[in-house]
Amino acid sequence: MTRRIFKSICFAAIAVFLASLVFIMGVLYNYFSTVQRNQMKMQTELISQGVTHEGIDYFTGLKTYDYRVTWISPEGVVLFDSQSDAENMENHLERKEVKEALENGYGESSRYSVTLMERLLYSAKKLSDGTVIRLSGTQNSIWMLILGMEQPIILMFVIAAGISLFLAFRLSRKIVNPLNELNLDEPLSNKEYVELRPLLKRISLQQQQLKSQAAELRHKQEEFETATDNMNEGLILLNENGIILSMNRTASKLLRISKFCIGKDILMLNNALALQELLSKAKNGERSETTMKLNGLEYQLNASPVITDDEVSGIALLIFDVTEKEKAEQMRREFTANVSHELKTPLHSISGYAELLKNDMVKPEDITKFSGQIYAEAQRMIYLVDDIIKLSHLDEDAGDMKREDVDLYEIARETVRAFEPKAKAAKITFTMNGVSAPVRGVPQLLNSIVFNLCDNALKYNRENGSVSVDVQNTDSSVVLSVSDTGIGIPARHQERIFERFYRVDKSHSKEVGGTGLGLSIVKHAAKLHNASIELHSVVDGGTTVRIVFPK
Ligand code: ADP
Repeated sequence: MTRRIFKSICFAAIAVFLASLVFIMGVLYNYFSTVQRNQMKMQTELISQGVTHEGIDYFTGLKTYDYRVTWISPEGVVLFDSQSDAENMENHLERKEVKEALENGYGESSRYSVTLMERLLYSAKKLSDGTVIRLSGTQNSIWMLILGMEQPIILMFVIAAGISLFLAFRLSRKIVNPLNELNLDEPLSNKEYVELRPLLKRISLQQQQLKSQAAELRHKQEEFETATDNMNEGLILLNENGIILSMNRTASKLLRISKFCIGKDILMLNNALALQELLSKAKNGERSETTMKLNGLEYQLNASPVITDDEVSGIALLIFDVTEKEKAEQMRREFTANVSHELKTPLHSISGYAELLKNDMVKPEDITKFSGQIYAEAQRMIYLVDDIIKLSHLDEDAGDMKREDVDLYEIARETVRAFEPKAKAAKITFTMNGVSAPVRGVPQLLNSIVFNLCDNALKYNRENGSVSVDVQNTDSSVVLSVSDTGIGIPARHQERIFERFYRVDKSHSKEVGGTGLGLSIVKHAAKLHNASIELHSVVDGGTTVRIVFPK
């Protein structure tokens, strides 16, 4: 800009200089022409006086310098000419200046001479005898004038150019500097140029609009981030080339990657074949899903193409941690297999005994024994099915079970009372201790806990052994403990006895009518009450199970 202003000022200065030169030269030329004409008039007057006094003798020895003097008779015949032979000259009567002089006493004219290639000035005066004295001289052209003033003009040009350059330089900087120093952060604070105010106002307005748009965008971004960060699923947005544009908190947690991965290719983080296929399908505009193992966990990935103007402009990747789901699925499969297996054994026994009875292959005295076996196996199946139903209830709709304020001591006392006949028959002493302990929970589940613990304490006890049930109410918790003086559990099994169908001694468990599900029900029910389980058992020394319900 400085350069353009500088150039413009220089051009303007030179143009002004040239225009002034032309004007001044014009005026000068005019002035000199008038002076020359007046001089010629005066010279003509002088020569006329001389000729009037002396006649033709006046011309003898007359020096005319640049002038040409011609004496013409009233008829137009040339009587004398200072440059040519008068006799050979044509009649001058028709010459304009001569004609005027004859008519008015004095005449003037100027003509361009093709022969001499210059303009000639003529002045003529009528003498008293009727003859005419004519004087002619070369009229200086403007070019000659300029050539004559060559040096001062060049000097003036140099001075004018120097001053123009200096002023142009100063001026252009003076104009441009305030523009360079404009404070565009606060456009309205600039006061230098009034002409710039509309522009500055516009800039200020646009800045405000930009600011409010940026704030709105930030607000929307925050809203989006809050919404996506609170999602349980991981969400990653990719562009059409698989570059990560954004990810929510869950995604970075699940994939154990930081937000620094934004801007990187997702395949650089993980180039599993499943992910590559998923992305290439999404790039082709197809929705697809896959599962993938990562960091020892199982993930389900759903990829949906983001389509703008019929083109895939990005990919939304949803990530679910399905490890627990997979585990549950696996457990369910194992459970179903175990249930089938557990049911198969008593069914086979029942079917075997029944077949023998049907074919009359049982001695009459053995019928009671056989039917007793069938009854025992059927009973086992009933217990098993009961426990399976309880567990599947716990699996399916444990959350929907109604919670009530109950007294755990009362529940335990009732259960102990129900066990008494059985205990008496097995010659085992049952004692109940403790204090009233209010608990908020599901009564039938609390009942199941006490029942299964007491049942185990009785089943895995010895003759003349004892079982003690105790309920304590402390400031922080309610504790139910069931202790027995039974066979105890070897340390290596203690971890696993809460698994479904896990039994230390399968045949012993079967003998005493165990299903292998009692402690699983206890574990499940305790978990639903946020209670923890503590097990203390010594082989041949007895077992104590403590269930701690936090308040
Ligand atoms: P079961 O129906 O076989 O008793 P549980 O799930 O209740 O199934 O118990 C799992 C296994 O834990 C039992 O088979 C048994 O071996 C062991 N067990 C449970 N309670 C006791 C106990 N009080 N004393 C000794 N062993 C026990």
